[in-house]
Amino acid sequence: MREKLVIGNWKMNGSALHIDSFVDALRQKIPADFRAQTLIAPPACYLGYASPRFEEVGIGLCAQDVSAYPVGAYTGEISAGMLLDLGCRFAIVGHSERRSYHGETDAVVAAKVKQALRDGIRPVVCVGEALAQREEGRYEQVIRQQVQAVLQVCEPEVWSDLVFAYEPVWAIGTGQTATPEQAQEAHRFIRSLLGAPGASVSILYGGSVKPENAAAIFSQPDVDGGLIGGASLCAADFKAVFSAI
Ligand code: PEP
Repeated sequence: MREKLVIGNWKMNGSALHIDSFVDALRQKIPADFRAQTLIAPPACYLGYASPRFEEVGIGLCAQDVSAYPVGAYTGEISAGMLLDLGCRFAIVGHSERRSYHGETDAVVAAKVKQALRDGIRPVVCVGEALAQREEGRYEQVIRQQVQAVLQVCEPEVWSDLVFAYEPVWAIGTGQTATPEQAQEAHRFIRSLLGAPGASVSILYGGSVKPENAAAIFSQPDVDGGLIGGASLCAADFKAVFSAI
């Protein structure tokens, strides 16, 4: 379903204490009828701790990753079913840090997406080009390949459960944001790859979104929200970002 989503990705940051102080600092509960669903992806070991605490302030739970397998001898992996048990409905899949530091190929990302959908977790599929690929004029080719790898393994009837996050690698954690026009162009391109079902798919932007630039990016017609890294660790900044939607 195409809806507005703002998702904080805490990566390997945070602690039980941080969750407590973050929730305290937010103070007011985000109303159920707020313009966007607001979620945070804490490290997996804190999902259980965060679940009731985030719920108190109207924040949903997202995982940073999910296994490509349903159950079995896969040391260190966490299945979609386990995430559901913890109250999680979404999982980031194929973040550029997992693609580059953990060797996740398009095939691995596609397998994770397929398994997540099968078990009722909505995957937030990260796609985006590196700086050199943009400079070589290949950014659409890179995105097309990443998106099609996922679409090939899912029936069009379930595409509306997919969420894509356009995250240009050169903008992640660098302070360098895509301009609103660059974001809109890439988002429109991703939607065009989906054909008619694209009208019901949420496409988020990620890459150095902060309180100062969130409103301009979120105002673009094909931008349905954001995946927020650094700025999601500070309650005041995250609140300013999600309030800009
Ligand atoms: C991210 O890692 O998904 C991200 C968008 O990070 P940042 O906002 O810090 O660039």
